[in-house]
Amino acid sequence: MRRVSQVNAVTVRVPAKVNLQLGVGPIRDDGYHDLVNVFHAVSLCDEVTAEPAERLEVRVQAAPHSRVAIDGVPTGTDNLAARAARLVAARLGVEPAVRLRIRKAIPVAGGMAGGSADAAAALVACARLWDDREQPVLARDDLMDLGADLGSDVPFAVLGGTAVGVGRGERLTPALTRGTFHWVFATADGGLSTPAVYGECDRLRLDAGEEAAWPAVSEGLMTALATGDAKGLGAALSNDLQPAALSLRPALRRTIDAGRDLGAIGAVVSGSGPTCAFLAETAEDAAGLADALHGAGVAEQIVRAQGPVSGATVL
Ligand code: ATP
Repeated sequence: MRRVSQVNAVTVRVPAKVNLQLGVGPIRDDGYHDLVNVFHAVSLCDEVTAEPAERLEVRVQAAPHSRVAIDGVPTGTDNLAARAARLVAARLGVEPAVRLRIRKAIPVAGGMAGGSADAAAALVACARLWDDREQPVLARDDLMDLGADLGSDVPFAVLGGTAVGVGRGERLTPALTRGTFHWVFATADGGLSTPAVYGECDRLRLDAGEEAAWPAVSEGLMTALATGDAKGLGAALSNDLQPAALSLRPALRRTIDAGRDLGAIGAVVSGSGPTCAFLAETAEDAAGLADALHGAGVAEQIVRAQGPVSGATVL
């Protein structure tokens, strides 16, 4: 085994994502769907600290001032961050002797890829811990490749910004954006399982006798991003999983409608839900919308964030 470095502890901040467009194509032979996925990283972040330890350990807590329910997060070896640490260790030929301390602000099973974010953070943190020479063996692209083995949202959490993903969502091309977009997120009590939401999407399509179309990137969306046109972006938000999320969690319809009624310029379920994402034109509008949504009592928690932001970053 290679001698590992003397770095003591590395903390990485990693963003949640919202899908600006989630186009779900026909189901493939391998059981996955072909997707067109426009990912957007927002300033709602988890932090993962990696420090040398006797053996691989994971500790999970809610971030300070966050009310994230962490009960559903495994602390054992099936935590995605632990799996990421093992992958990096195997690649570098070192023991995965690391304690990972995860501070969560991203809702669990909320459709914002929190588990994938923690995996991305662990990839970057462990690489820094064990590979701190001038020319690291693992470049960011290598970490994104390793991440793709853990889940299709992991490479984007390493990359950040705004990017178009095709295939299962893991082949990424950065998108041109201008300025900052202002978001309000409404979280729900209790998560939705991503496979269950895809299953419901298939069932609804079958019942309706609908053949899924091959998804294509929305040109209106790309133009709105490139020109910093918040209203255009709001109008172009789309999510093919939304009917399935609403079918499994009918109360979300009230949340989406409330956001629209209260002045959001765009409203969409984030990924597989149940978090709902609302777009506002300015930071002040976002603050007003957040207060109004809070008053309407349609969500467990209301969180403001901006995007795009960088991917997993060493602090
Ligand atoms: P996506 O948007 O990618 O579909 P999600 O945001 O809906 O994901 P996650 O928060 O990523 O959902 O968690 C999904 C499940 O993954 C959790 O219910 C939990 O059992 C498991 N999991 C494993 N590791 C983690 C982690 N570090 N943080 C959160 N959940 C994790």
